[in-house]
Amino acid sequence: MSLAKHWRLQRQRYRLIGVECEDCGGRFFPHRQICPQCKSTRVGPYQFEGEGKVYSHTVIYDAPAGYEQFVPYVAALVQLDEGPLVTAQLTDVDISDVCIGMPVEMVTRRLRQYGEDGLIVYGYKFRPKLKGDH
Ligand SMILES: [Zn+2]
Repeated sequence: MSLAKHWRLQRQRYRLIGVECEDCGGRFFPHRQICPQCKSTRVGPYQFEGEGKVYSHTVIYDAPAGYEQFVPYVAALVQLDEGPLVTAQLTDVDISDVCIGMPVEMVTRRLRQYGEDGLIVYGYKFRPKLKGDH
């Protein structure tokens, strides 16, 4: 992966930028060129707040290469307050505490470390929202 592409992806990962459709008002993540709802190409960048609820979740015991250090971990489908569903790892949580509807917020964490060049990829994860925080 080129460094330029790496940083471009990095920015999207950090800031949770998707798109908003100028025609139907739909908001989607990740970024795309065409609105999946009305097929309009008039879509512009939209910054999601990074808050939502657990929509569904599953515990991963058998991780893909690069993620072994996190096993076991919870992979969740998070429904953002703005509507879209994003897949993310949950962090700072006991696996047994995770439940559907649990309020969560985005945090930036190290996602994986590549082999020899030591390139570390950061990305978003979600953690439970602290009580009294909302
Ligand atoms: Zn649309």
